[in-house]
Amino acid sequence: MQTKEGIRLRNHAIWETAVDAILTIDDGGFIIACNPAAETLFGYNSDEALGQNIALLMPQKYRDQHDEHLKRQLHQPMGGHQVNAIGTTRQLVAQHKNGQTFPVHLSLSEMNVKGQRQFSAIIRDISELKDIENALRDNEQRLRFGQDFAGIGTWDWNVDTDELYWTEQIPPLFGHPKGALETSYENFRAAIHVDDRLLVEDAITTCLEQDIPYNIEHRVVWPDGSVHWLHERGDVVRDGQGKPVRMLGVVSDISEAKQTQIDLHESEARFRDIAENMSDWIWEVDAQGVFTYCSGNIEAILGYRPDEIIGRTPFDLMTTEEAQTISAVFADIAQNKRPINNLENWNLAKDGHRVCLLTNGVPLLDAEGELIGYRGVDKDITDEKHMKAALIEAKEVAERANLAKSEFLSNMSHELRTPLNAILGFAQLFGFDDNLNEDQQLNLTEINRAGEHLLEVINEILDLAKVEAGVLDLKMGATPICDILEECYAISLPLTKEHAIRLHIDTNTDAAVYADRTRLKQVLLNLISNGIKYNHPNGMVEVKVGKGDQAQWRISVNDTGLGITPDNLENLFQPFNRLDLGQSQIEGTGVGLVISKNFVEAMGGSIGVKSIPGKGSHFWVEFPSVRASEPMELIGETDSALAKDEYGCECNQDIAKHSGRILAVEDNTTNQALLQIQLQSLNYKVDIASNGIEALDFLSKESYKLILTDCNMAKMNGFQFAEVVRQQENGQHRHIPILAITANIITGEADRYHRAGMDDCLAKPVSLDILQAKIEKYWAHSVENEPPLFSTSAQNTERQCHLDITVLQNTLGDQPKDYQHVLSIFTQSAPADVKEILQAVTSQDHEALHLAAHKLKSAARAIGARLLAAICQLLEVNSHHTDWDKAAKLTAQLTIAMTQVEAVIADHT
Ligand code: ADP
Repeated sequence: MQTKEGIRLRNHAIWETAVDAILTIDDGGFIIACNPAAETLFGYNSDEALGQNIALLMPQKYRDQHDEHLKRQLHQPMGGHQVNAIGTTRQLVAQHKNGQTFPVHLSLSEMNVKGQRQFSAIIRDISELKDIENALRDNEQRLRFGQDFAGIGTWDWNVDTDELYWTEQIPPLFGHPKGALETSYENFRAAIHVDDRLLVEDAITTCLEQDIPYNIEHRVVWPDGSVHWLHERGDVVRDGQGKPVRMLGVVSDISEAKQTQIDLHESEARFRDIAENMSDWIWEVDAQGVFTYCSGNIEAILGYRPDEIIGRTPFDLMTTEEAQTISAVFADIAQNKRPINNLENWNLAKDGHRVCLLTNGVPLLDAEGELIGYRGVDKDITDEKHMKAALIEAKEVAERANLAKSEFLSNMSHELRTPLNAILGFAQLFGFDDNLNEDQQLNLTEINRAGEHLLEVINEILDLAKVEAGVLDLKMGATPICDILEECYAISLPLTKEHAIRLHIDTNTDAAVYADRTRLKQVLLNLISNGIKYNHPNGMVEVKVGKGDQAQWRISVNDTGLGITPDNLENLFQPFNRLDLGQSQIEGTGVGLVISKNFVEAMGGSIGVKSIPGKGSHFWVEFPSVRASEPMELIGETDSALAKDEYGCECNQDIAKHSGRILAVEDNTTNQALLQIQLQSLNYKVDIASNGIEALDFLSKESYKLILTDCNMAKMNGFQFAEVVRQQENGQHRHIPILAITANIITGEADRYHRAGMDDCLAKPVSLDILQAKIEKYWAHSVENEPPLFSTSAQNTERQCHLDITVLQNTLGDQPKDYQHVLSIFTQSAPADVKEILQAVTSQDHEALHLAAHKLKSAARAIGARLLAAICQLLEVNSHHTDWDKAAKLTAQLTIAMTQVEAVIADHT
């Protein structure tokens, strides 16, 4: 039984030893008692605390609040518990004597002590508790942040109660806002992709039953239908008997990683598909060149499986020789860490057949830039190689065929020219027959015209053959345009008359181009003659020289003729294409423009055309210009192919009966007869031999001043014959001029004549005038002790034909200054004479022509310009006839001969 004293003592003991601070305050809020724990908690001893307002123990900012609160409390009737402070516990902030604040737990109770209202406050320092609480909260927050950032959610499932807890990060993993999805296993299951549900359930069961950690990747379908990948890991917590109590897990979204993984798989599969299915094979070697990888398709190429290759080097697959070559190349590449570019190498396949590989690769470098190997691709190019070899062979065959074609054309030309030779030659001879009546004269003109046309066609075909055979022999040099244009004018005049066309050529230019003079003239003549031919009567052709693109001269040939339609323009420059004019009366072969284009381009120039149907055409050629100050190397007319009809002369009446004989070697009886008549009509005595052997026999019995020989003959041909003659002459200081007569004028043949010791060649059919000019040219040189002409310089012969300086030397003595003086007087006066002749021909003035031609003939003879003199003589003789076309043709030859004479004089002065 408790006594009052017992209760008091026990209360006192509680008061004194209580852990919590206990304070008693009166109804004014003043402290009337405090226990030792209160002294310790607030730092005031009881003397300091007693009588103080309880507000002393609070931070300043709560003190007024506390006063208000106390007033309201006292306002309540005693024992009324309406005010929530009484009988409740609250958390407050208290203040220590030293000013430090700290959280406290306050329990307040009201007492009635002898009618007085008193309050008892039990105060507990909860600083530590608060710290723990804060730490916990921080941790939780950190965990939440961590889960947020990592996209991780956690769950906790109570196996017994089936209660499930998951963190707020779980719903977003299922496509719901944070915390929006109600936590339940059904919701979790519903979110799982239907195809993965069984997998997940199995994994959970296995974990629970067999204690295998729950570790699974599965898909979930979000409310928007998108599919996402989750990774789940978890384990089971068991009780002492091993019975599962809880299962805990972590879920994370691995969609991105999964996508990367899927992409990687796909790209790997793609690479594998490509590597395995491409015809090339992929490889990797280490720094020592040892294969570390190779794709399976090597088997299709070399017959080895990859495992048979890995560990070997590429050189193990080659012959020793090839390995030596390729390893040296590879060593150099590897030393410089260069890529391998299109390295061709021959390998031996497993069955021993040879395979050519085309290797490409890139160096593999480590972080320090050291070479650790190569990776690359090998392509099987064996078929390609064989094909290339076959192509080369085919090309060679084609080239041989082309050559054969050229030879065929050459031979064909021989076959065509030989009878043509006879036709034209005999026709010319008829021309000298004064007994021909008018009809016969007309027929003869027709034979000549047709024969010349045929000759022109053959020449053009031969030119085309040369172009196609790529054997154009160009003599490039600085070529003044003015000279060429003057010549073109003179040559084209007869054609203008025939077609009633006005030709205007602006020759007033000092332009010079880098070109082959002869070929350029041929091109311009073709363009001009086209302009004349494809024109209307009284039409006009105009030739102008102007600046072209960059440092080029442009020579334009404009006509007011038929013009060319745009469609036809596309087909221009095609061999044998006469466009719409194939059936017309206008003569042509359709080859001229092709040849012109080829010539122009071979000379580094260009050719073009613009045309308006019905109005006319504008053809032009452009060539690189040559500076006017540059010394001009005039290009002479040395091409035998083109010299064929340069001298359209008639028989020279002046040549007296010649002393000395000519030996003609020819196997064709018609040509034999023709030659004989031609030579006799020129007053030469002639012997005819049928081949080289027969000719040597003649030579052994008779001395000859000149030999004319065919080239293609049975038994001993012309070349062999000429060689024997030269051997016999060797050391005897003798030289009989040998002139070849040939229908074969393909480029390259000229060299052959020279090599055989021949002096010159004449193209079949040989016209009487050319025959005469050539014989005249060499007749004097057959004098004994005279050095052979060709053996010194082939050009000399040509030059002596234009200007035989020995004539002046014989007349004036060997004083260069004397004959130079005479030559310079000639160059000053002769152009005026030429002009007079041209004017006389244009105005068809017989008398003026006779006088001017005679004057120039004398001057030309005096200085040794033999060809010029011969042409003048023909003009002089012809001046009494009325054949002005012929006269016009001769003036064309005259202009050319004059230019050549001037060029040779320039060399002598
Ligand atoms: P050809 O004149 O011998 O037929 P070309 O090769 O010189 O051969 O010309 C080919 C064709 O181009 C001619 O047949 C003609 O139809 C056409 N042609 C050439 N020049 C002209 C021109 N100035 N005006 C109209 N047509 C032309």
